[in-house]
This record gives sequence, C-alpha cells and structure tokens, in this order.
Amino acid sequence: MSTDLSPAPQAPLEGVKPYKSLSNEELQSRIQAVRDAMGSQLLILGHHYQQDEVVELADLRGDSYQLSQLAANSEDCRAIAFCGVHFMAETADILANRPEKLTERNGKRVRVMLPDMAAGCSMADMAAIDQIEDAWDQLSEVIDTERLIPVTYINSAASLKAFVGQHGGIVCTSSNAKAALEWAYERGDQVMFFPDQHLGRNTASGMGITNDLMPVWNPHADELGGNTEQDIKQAKVILWQGHCSVHQMFKPEHVAMFREKHPGIKILVHPECPQNVFELADEFGSTGAIIKAVRNAPAGSKWAIGTELHLVNRLKQEHPEQEIHFLSPVVCMCATMYRIDLAHLCWTLENLYAGTPVNTIEVDEETSKWSLVALERMLEVK
Ligand code: SF4
Repeated sequence: MSTDLSPAPQAPLEGVKPYKSLSNEELQSRIQAVRDAMGSQLLILGHHYQQDEVVELADLRGDSYQLSQLAANSEDCRAIAFCGVHFMAETADILANRPEKLTERNGKRVRVMLPDMAAGCSMADMAAIDQIEDAWDQLSEVIDTERLIPVTYINSAASLKAFVGQHGGIVCTSSNAKAALEWAYERGDQVMFFPDQHLGRNTASGMGITNDLMPVWNPHADELGGNTEQDIKQAKVILWQGHCSVHQMFKPEHVAMFREKHPGIKILVHPECPQNVFELADEFGSTGAIIKAVRNAPAGSKWAIGTELHLVNRLKQEHPEQEIHFLSPVVCMCATMYRIDLAHLCWTLENLYAGTPVNTIEVDEETSKWSLVALERMLEVK
C-alpha cells in the first residue's frame, strides 16, 4: 500500500513511445510507485528468460510451469502483468479466472496483461489450430483417432490446449512430459505431440521408443504430413514439425568443443534441444531443474549449459563459486520475450492504475473451458 514516503503513481504518457526516452532509473521508480500503490492487488510475474531489469521488478519469478501454478493459486491479486510471452499470459488468464475462482471473487476477473502484444513464441506459432484440425481429419482416415491421444506442450496457443481438452488429451511441461506421455498411453495406443518435436522425441526416446516409430508431421506437406499410411499406422508418437528457435541453435560440435577445452565439464541442456545434442548431455531438465542442478552443485563445478542466454548469464552471476559457460559460440536468446522491457511494463502499469488498461489478454469462454480441462490434467500429473 502507498505510504507517505512513496511517491504517487504518475499519469500515463500518450502511448508507449514516450516511455522509451525515459532512463531506466526513472522507469523503475515509476513502476515502483504503481507497485506501492496497488500492493498485493498487483502481481508482476517474470519468466526466467527475461532481461535482468525486468526480472528484478517481478514479484515472482519462474518457468512457464511454475508461473502457471502461481497464477492458478493467486488469492488477493486483481491484476497480473505477465512478463513472458503470449501463450503464458493466456494460460494465466485461464487459470486465474477458472469458475471456482470467479465464484469466490463474486464474478470479478483477474485482469492479465502482456506488456508487449508482439511478445509471442516462435515455437507456439508453428502450430495453428486449423493445421492441427486438418491433420486430425487426415489421421482419422488412416487410424482410429479414438485411440490417438493429443498432447500439447504448454508452449502453445489456448486454441490448441482447448483442442486437446476436447479430444481426451493433456497439456505437458518440460518437467512432466514423461508423466504426461505415460498418462496418454494409459488411455490410448498412439500419441500426437505438438508443437515441439524435440521435447516429444527426447521424452519418448527416454521411454524406449525408437525414432522409426516417431514420424514427423510436416503441416505444409500435401498428404499425411509427408508420411506414408504405414508410417502413421505403426507410429507410437506422431511428432509435429515445430521447434524452439533458441534451443535449436545448440549443436553436437559445441558439446565436443567444451569437452575438449574443459576436461571434467558437465553438459546440462533443456529437452527442447535437438536429439543429437540431448543425447550427448550429462544432465537435462526443465528451466527449473537446470537452476536447481546448479544451485545444488558443489563449488568448483564446471558446466556448459544449453538453454536461453539470459538465464545462463544470471546463473553465472548468482554462482561465482562455479564455472558456468553458455553452450554455444553464438548468442541464443529469446528475441520475442526480450520485447518486454521497462518502457512497456511502465506504460502497462500506469494505464492500469489510471483505469485505462492496455494489452489485456482474455481468452473466450469456450476456449477457456476446454483448455482448463487439459491444464487441470497437467497440474495433476507430476
Ligand atoms: S525460448 Fe523458445 S520456446 Fe521459449 S518462449 Fe522463446 S521461442 Fe518460445
């Protein structure tokens, strides 16, 4: 709450552009004024891949799974500024405004805002709902889609999550992907996994499924995603041809180079990395698991980490007692997430406080209902 010592929030400037000419110090102080005035009614969520100055102002920091749980459990807050990407803000809107929460709040919605609407996810954009529906129709000509369970990575649009909910499937995260596949095989014989082929392949491969049983569905191919009927019939997992442009950049030669130059180094990667890198790694895990592995390692440990650059740099700063390298000679950062800067955050918060909210993400009722079915399964499956 505002105190005599806190300055009052300022009136919003006209559009985001004038905020760009303010210094970081001024932006931080204006943002802080809104935080002080709104207290626990405002929650700023910051993804680990965000730039440092944004993450420093976040009330809570996490990966997409942790942040979706935080949004699901928010009690007091009335507004969330989601410093992440579009699909994450959609997920927060669905979970924070699920029916029982709305009843508790007498129908009042939590407003979820994405400070820059252009902050998308290139992986999520590789699977559009009309492409998924078209693939499903084609598959139904060849196999029994009653026994085909759709699994979507949380990095996907709400429309895909709703499709999955309606078709008896589940949303997964990089931490529970194996458990989600096991859940799916308890209910069907085959899985369709989208949008990240690498997470699907790496996870299924860890369960003993060989690549010949994992055809890749190319949504731009003329028929059956570029596969034969036999490929589809014998498939255990049909992988969507999508990938993360950041994690796709890590290569086997980077692993070899680090092993040669730094004997004893451990290679630690995110499962969105391609299989030929994933299989060379010593350890793998979700963003949360990567942080935990470093945090729990003894001083003097040596790591080459294959995930987003901002996170790796932050780990370096927070753990000077360890030797931490970024597993690539080229810069791999999430360019879309990087769009959320202090100027956009300040513009969003001052407009919220002034009663002229901008960039609200509100998923329609039908899509929310079915997405929630698939998301609740995700939250139950560890
Ligand atoms: S790092 Fe990759 S998967 Fe994550 S938000 Fe960015 S583009 Fe999407």
